Amino acid sequence: MAAKRNTDQLYRIQKARRGTGRGLFAARPIKKGAFIIEYTGKHIPTSVADTLGTKYLFEIDETWTVDGSPRSNTARYINHSCNPNCEAVIEDGHINIYARRPISRGEELTMDYGEEYFDEFIKPKGCRCEVCATVL
Ligand SMILES: [Zn+2]
Repeated sequence: MAAKRNTDQLYRIQKARRGTGRGLFAARPIKKGAFIIEYTGKHIPTSVADTLGTKYLFEIDETWTVDGSPRSNTARYINHSCNPNCEAVIEDGHINIYARRPISRGEELTMDYGEEYFDEFIKPKGCRCEVCATVL
């Protein structure tokens, strides 16, 4: 369990690509497999979460979902990508985010939000990740 380590120096919030608002970016090189940040928030019953229809909900299992909307949850700035460099791992009821591959300084941190989120929030507007965005 690496979740309690202070990893503030690994990332910073900054303006992301057009249309995606702010994002989280690597402030220094991050090794593959390194713990980056925990997705934090209030635990609410998944049955309740399913009725909210808000963003920033992260389902742990059929029983519990984390409502990550508070600003203190820095991990909520991680944008979706169809080819992400981070992945979320559920450990002991915590949502821990790790590097899937080596990440360079200045690279945006991304993760796959999953099919349900994608269909509800991303598909209607079109995905703006670096894989899907049209190269100008
Ligand atoms: Zn995409």
